[in-house]
Amino acid sequence: MKVTPPYFGAAYYPEAWPVEQIDDDIALMKQAGMNVMRIGEFAWSSMEPAEGAFDFAWLHHVVDKLAAAGIGTILCTPTCTPPAWLAEKYPEILIIDDAGRQIGHGGRRHACPNSPVYRDHCARIVTKTAGEFGQDANLVGWQIDNEVHPHGQPPGRGCFCPVCKQKFRDGLRAKFGTIGKLNAAWGTNLWSQAYQSFDQLHGPVRGAWHHQSLYAAYTLFQGDSYVEFCHQQADILHRLTRQPVGTDMMPTTLVSYERMNRTLDVVQHNHYHDMPNLWQSAMWFDYSRPVKPVPFWNTETSTCWNGSHTANRYRESGFCRANSWIPVALGGEAVLYWLWRSHWSGQELMHGSVVSSAGRPLHMFAEVQEIAAGFKAAADFITRTRPAQPKLAMHLSNWAQTVFESQGIVEGFDYRTRVVESFYHPIIQAQYRLDVIDAAAPLTPYALLVSPYLVSLEEAALRDRLLAWIEAGGTWIAGPWTDVRDLHAAKYRHAPFGSIEDWAGIYCKQQIPGIPRDFAIRWADGTMSRSQLWCDGFELRQSGVESLADYTEGELAGLSAVAARKVGKGRIIVLGTQPDAAALQGIIAHLAKATGVVPVGDASENLLVVPRKGPAGEGQIVVEHEHKPATLTLPRAATDLLTGKSVPAGRVEIEPYGVKVLKY
Ligand SMILES: [Zn+2]
Repeated sequence: MKVTPPYFGAAYYPEAWPVEQIDDDIALMKQAGMNVMRIGEFAWSSMEPAEGAFDFAWLHHVVDKLAAAGIGTILCTPTCTPPAWLAEKYPEILIIDDAGRQIGHGGRRHACPNSPVYRDHCARIVTKTAGEFGQDANLVGWQIDNEVHPHGQPPGRGCFCPVCKQKFRDGLRAKFGTIGKLNAAWGTNLWSQAYQSFDQLHGPVRGAWHHQSLYAAYTLFQGDSYVEFCHQQADILHRLTRQPVGTDMMPTTLVSYERMNRTLDVVQHNHYHDMPNLWQSAMWFDYSRPVKPVPFWNTETSTCWNGSHTANRYRESGFCRANSWIPVALGGEAVLYWLWRSHWSGQELMHGSVVSSAGRPLHMFAEVQEIAAGFKAAADFITRTRPAQPKLAMHLSNWAQTVFESQGIVEGFDYRTRVVESFYHPIIQAQYRLDVIDAAAPLTPYALLVSPYLVSLEEAALRDRLLAWIEAGGTWIAGPWTDVRDLHAAKYRHAPFGSIEDWAGIYCKQQIPGIPRDFAIRWADGTMSRSQLWCDGFELRQSGVESLADYTEGELAGLSAVAARKVGKGRIIVLGTQPDAAALQGIIAHLAKATGVVPVGDASENLLVVPRKGPAGEGQIVVEHEHKPATLTLPRAATDLLTGKSVPAGRVEIEPYGVKVLKY
């Protein structure tokens, strides 16, 4: 049996149901039009009921039954939920939280990713599972573990067990060499925090006012522990299996997508955005796409509402359609719901699904069937065209999130929220297509780069690469709050910025928090707006610097709020404050001639328009994502592959949550 993309399916937990029920489930899966199920992520105790006693017969039965119905399997390693016998016999594997409590059996993600005992048991179950299924032609791919990231509330995220403590110290010893160098980099003389040896270092806990460098170092260490944990499993899977390997990641950058996926084959992403913020899911797919040249997988999303203890945020009719097409439009080749059949017991009883725990199709079942039919009708176009490569990119940084968690700019500042709402949203509303990239990503595909709140240019040695890219012709929109911390989360002492003053020929004369009051700004064309969040006021010190906007009041009056300068063949634009949506859109539009970055089409701001090209032809996929009517000006006559009808060039109406696959 060979299942081909686009993959469409759900998470399925046969271990929780009587074995004979699978026939009813499969019959419904076929009715739904699904071709793949994701299985096994929490099934360790069914695979290894006692230490060293393995049972895969039930799992073979499920995989074979699905295959006989033409449904492929994404098999997961079950390491998120170690069995009771493992926790009982080897309690040292259990996470110790920041209050010193050992997290016992009965939940999930309660084993320490650094525990060598846990790692050995994980390696064994993964090796066994890979040996059983690695050559099974009915497998479509592998998922390592589930949603790996350090749990807990900052600043006490992750694990504080003796192994983590030692590994954290050893890591800093390897990085700094001597404790004196760590003290110098972190500036520990203040508050008598200077360490005499690495053995005096502890992770930061809630209730204490810890050093920012310590906090950032521990958060980074815990996130990277999961990278190492997954890579160990990937090595085994790569040795014993022939299907692509990934791990399903959440919309958080606490674990670096770039470092995690470096040795994996396919980026897998889960999200549960709902009606008010569905558009935000696009940022995470624009972030998943550039990580690998192959199409990403949307491994989990909801059909109709979220829920764990309670059912949350019901989605109107049509949501499932728009939500399922956004990842496909943006370059994905798999959409899987969480979950197939609602649980009858245990955690997450109230989560939306495809069929109820009683096996009855939920209200949006017909919509699921329609999505399946659409994926099938447009399969050739989906799989043999790709989204056009954007010339515009925006940074989203693992290190910035790590640093801002312990030292926000102003009260209530949240890094991800500001990047997605104040930068990504205005950009897509103006119909620019972009890649959202990690600091380590190459810059060569891009003509225009926006780096909001990119706290350090030392991440991934970006500083030198960035300057070389600008000098070669790139245009960089920097800030606010970019290049203001080093790799130890400390400030620079020669200037508020590492390099930006030098590069842009400016002098930052005043810095004032933009809350509770803001300041008026006059743009070069006479337009007025207000500062937001933070205000850097610049003097223009070098030749060739121009001010694109000046503050007109208060202590900042007369200083530049946005400065620009040509550097080599390129250009730098420094934002001293967060521009409003219109101002940001205006800056990008103003640069169109220099960068070639132009909107992909004339369309309503609530419409996602993705131009696509490839061996299967050329066209665009459009998805309405705000549950409102939208319009689009189609540049060429096309056929809507979902209806088979021809659509003439010109104005096209799109219904709320409407989708069109338009092939020219
Ligand atoms: Zn630990």
